[in-house]
Amino acid sequence: MMKPLDIAIAGCGVAGLSAAVLLRAQGARVVIFDQFESPRPLGSGIIMQPVGMAVLDEIGCGDALRGLGAPITRLHGRNTPGQNVVLDVRYDARGANAESGLGVHRGALFQVLYDAARAAGAEIESGRSVASANDGRLHFTGGTQSARFDLVIDALGARSSLSTPAERPLPFGALWASLDWHESFAPDALEQRYLDARKMAGVMPIGRLQGRARNQAAFFWSLKHEARDAWAAADLDAWKAEVRALWPATEPLLAQINSHDDLVFAVYSHRTLSSPLSRDVVHVGDSWHTTSPQLGQGANMALLDALALARALTWQSDLSAALDEYARLRLWHIRLYQAASWMFTPAYQSDSKAFALLRDWIMAPVSRIPPAPQILAGLVAGQIGAPLSAMRD
Ligand SMILES: Cc1cc2nc3c(=O)[nH]c(=O)nc-3n(C[C@H](O)[C@H](O)[C@H](O)COP(=O)(O)OP(=O)(O)OC[C@H]3O[C@@H](n4cnc5c(N)ncnc54)[C@H](O)[C@@H]3O)c2cc1C
Repeated sequence: MMKPLDIAIAGCGVAGLSAAVLLRAQGARVVIFDQFESPRPLGSGIIMQPVGMAVLDEIGCGDALRGLGAPITRLHGRNTPGQNVVLDVRYDARGANAESGLGVHRGALFQVLYDAARAAGAEIESGRSVASANDGRLHFTGGTQSARFDLVIDALGARSSLSTPAERPLPFGALWASLDWHESFAPDALEQRYLDARKMAGVMPIGRLQGRARNQAAFFWSLKHEARDAWAAADLDAWKAEVRALWPATEPLLAQINSHDDLVFAVYSHRTLSSPLSRDVVHVGDSWHTTSPQLGQGANMALLDALALARALTWQSDLSAALDEYARLRLWHIRLYQAASWMFTPAYQSDSKAFALLRDWIMAPVSRIPPAPQILAGLVAGQIGAPLSAMRD
């Protein structure tokens, strides 16, 4: 085991906060730097998978999040106009006692991790926009720099200034909103409707934010990156009519959207660095690997990265050996899931009729033949490749 390290974490998101809690528990001094002025519960919904919940249990905030989120037992999608079921993944295909997913508000996840990091004694410096890093220091926009640390962790997310940028965004992103829950939707499912792969709407329960009584739904609408400006300039009612035509049951959700500003456009990109080790930093979460959220894995992968890094730093007596071990613990799981996300995304978000036909006439029927339901459930749960088994203490 090494002497307790002085660690700088750039980025106060899922990866940064979870790494902070785990590293503090091992005796490290941890300072997190983020550009935000004060912590904010922002964004819409996210599915926490059983692998991610296992890491949150290790951190000590799994039950707090379960108390806020909504269990999701299946992912269910129908094409239109046929209304055929073309996506049907059930978590219990892995066994009656298999853990479900958990739909959560992104702000709820942030809050439980932020509280845990504060309670663990992590220092958090806000208003620090990270521009670069070298020789154990972070350099901030405006010309200031941090003290020198033994290790700098890059947890700045998909557009990290310390990582290699993705070449270009994926053609499709999505509009997202957190809206009041409505009982016309299944309370325990992520539901989607498709027109080929060109149009997609989705609704999932996400429970509530800390201190709020009202349960919410995440609503999303697939939109091409290049169509974003035209959408923002067009009549909102015309867009609502388009959504309603695809999925009439969304009416009570659409009624809560009063302006374009009630929706946030999320840009998706796909990029995997060949190694999490750069000359001056080690990457965790989206700064290492980012993809479309079609498989719902990014936050869960960020949690697994944080756990792997913490484990490697306790198991090895030398920093460079520990960083190599971290890469080894995560590499294959990340490659597998990045490849799966890359393969599945066009079946749900693309202009290609062929991908939609493949989804409806090949993938959907094959997915019902054993052992496909078990494999798909394991894939969605984040458990293919048994990422946690090599990390048992
Ligand atoms: C629309 C959408 C839906 C998703 N759905 C799911 C899902 O269902 N399940 C799932 O597991 N994952 C999902 N993801 C992916 C998931 O959100 C990410 O993988 C996860 O948030 C990555 O965590 P991170 O800590 O690496 O980055 P982030 O959570 O993005 O955190 C990065 C932090 O760095 C800060 N930062 C960035 N740049 C700077 C800078 N220059 N200086 C200082 N601070 C900076 C930011 O303020 C932020 O606090 C979804 C993503 C999107 C966009």
